[in-house]
Amino acid sequence: MIIAANFKTNHTRKSTAKYLEKLVSYVKENSVSEDIYIFPPFTAFDDFELCENITLGAQNAYPAEKGSFTGEIGLEQLEEFDIKTVLIGHSERRHILGENQGFIAEKFNFFKDRGFKIVYCVGEPLEIRREGEDALQEYIKLQFSGIDTKYEKLIVAYEPVWAIGTGLSAEPVQIEETISFISNLTKAPILYGGSVKPSNIKEIVSIAGCGGALIGTASWDVDSFIEMITIVEQCQ
Ligand code: PEP
Repeated sequence: MIIAANFKTNHTRKSTAKYLEKLVSYVKENSVSEDIYIFPPFTAFDDFELCENITLGAQNAYPAEKGSFTGEIGLEQLEEFDIKTVLIGHSERRHILGENQGFIAEKFNFFKDRGFKIVYCVGEPLEIRREGEDALQEYIKLQFSGIDTKYEKLIVAYEPVWAIGTGLSAEPVQIEETISFISNLTKAPILYGGSVKPSNIKEIVSIAGCGGALIGTASWDVDSFIEMITIVEQCQ
């Protein structure tokens, strides 16, 4: 299973180091076998001693090696920290930062061409979910426009917008149906994200076709994240 933590705009350089120290020792001491990804803020990147199954990734990046892109981070800055994993298409970037599908596909292709592992997020807003199954499938299909769904280093995260950061996770049947639809579009592992927490992770990772979880809020506390890793380990 893949268990990923998206810190968003949380944690500092100091607190990320403390978090990783605790996480790494837990993973080593308990021989955890899950694939763990941590997406800290850029300012926290450092030369950490991690274990083989813990990977640091970038929450976002600009599709350029370097240049005049104020406030952005490019390939050169990621390479300095040996970052080879990037999150693309997160709903907060689509809806708050206004990234459109064309730009998202441009990013995807730039980092694909450079061999990055890409965690690619898709998910519908509530009004689309309310329109029914056809509208939902059409919406998600469009989020794959310009995306190479056969890319071997692709991981998809299905994250309904209305479930992100709201405390309200999608129902298992909704997750299963949408994962099943996405699995017709790609053979990549499909994670679920949207208010995953210790109390619901067991049910979520047990859903048919679910390859793991992308976790925001409940991952920010290292003890909560470790608790979820432990639960997933016990499900195997
Ligand atoms: C996310 O940001 O990818 C996410 C799933 O957030 P949360 O767990 O807080 O809903």
